[in-house]
Amino acid sequence: MMTHGSFAVPYKVVFCLTMAFLIGCVAAQPVTQPVVSKRAQMHMGTLVTLTVVAPDTSVSEQAMRAGFNEIKRLEQLLSTWRPDTELSLVNAEAGRRAVKVSQETLELVIRSLDMANLTHGGFNIALGPAVQAWNVTERQHVPDDRELQKLKPLVDWTSIQVNRVAQTIFLPRKGMRIDIGGIGKGYAADRAVAEMRRAGAIGGVVALSGDIKTFGMLPEGNGFPVGIQHPRREGELIAIVELKDEAISTAGDYERFFVQDGVRYHHILSPQTLQPVRVCQSVTIIAKEGVVADGLDTGIFVLGPEEGMALVESLPGVEAIIIDAEGTMTVSSGLRDRLRTP
Ligand code: ADP
Ligand code: MG
Repeated sequence: MMTHGSFAVPYKVVFCLTMAFLIGCVAAQPVTQPVVSKRAQMHMGTLVTLTVVAPDTSVSEQAMRAGFNEIKRLEQLLSTWRPDTELSLVNAEAGRRAVKVSQETLELVIRSLDMANLTHGGFNIALGPAVQAWNVTERQHVPDDRELQKLKPLVDWTSIQVNRVAQTIFLPRKGMRIDIGGIGKGYAADRAVAEMRRAGAIGGVVALSGDIKTFGMLPEGNGFPVGIQHPRREGELIAIVELKDEAISTAGDYERFFVQDGVRYHHILSPQTLQPVRVCQSVTIIAKEGVVADGLDTGIFVLGPEEGMALVESLPGVEAIIIDAEGTMTVSSGLRDRLRTP
């Protein structure tokens, strides 16, 4: 995420909320019936779709506004393609000084480091220099491997210095660069949900492209159905799952990629080789928090199907669908009975 907005991102997780589609925009309803409304805007370089279930249209409007405002506010702190954000300043001051940041930026970096620990470094927010060298989003080019290897000392996430008391972040080497593309949308979804709730919404969905967080229920008491995209057949779903107070996120090799000399190059990199990882086609994670679902999908994509699924089974409240490099699908034990065929 937070790459330039002109890049067309095909959906990997398709949010298929039938009720909201039928009702469309805010519709007047009897006082006792909650209203369901849905609206989309472009933020963080991606399509952001909010769905709100609210007691009345005025609360619905407030919740919509609160959700979009929160996402816009976070983008101003966290985007790394704008030079004037907090995180861009942290990157610009690498090797020079610690930068004082907001609670939100600090929290996202701390949660990112938690995800790195959990995935034994598979998830790595210090990969910025390598992500830039590839820049799969903007151009189709394979960087020279010797040049990539020179970046290795700069991608050491264990060297990132976070001072919780002083509320500062310091990247100790010049050229280091935090990249939150693998976790920021999930984090933004969590925070937008919190604001929508505070504004009075009783249920809803925040979807930043394929990073989706749901809360509450639809008026008839159902959860929110979400479709999971087939990694090789565009537009085809592999399953539908109903979510209640859960987030879902998918990392896939089919979203941002190019093919050169028969080789598929995509945007999820191995922190070891700094090359695109080739052990999975897609990893979908369901968790209570968006920040966990988004961080883990990228980290587990790197760990691979076996180690990744073992990690998922060890984490309470986390479920996964992993499709390995050959196209074989594995579903975590707690999710098997919840999947519906599309
Ligand atoms: P998206 O939903 O935007 O496709 P993902 O959650 O799949 O995001 O993460 C991919 C993005 O994460 C990349 O575009 C890059 O910015 C960043 N990234 C790539 N490899 C890693 C990694 N091993 N650890 C953390 N972030 C990564
Ligand atoms: Mg991710």
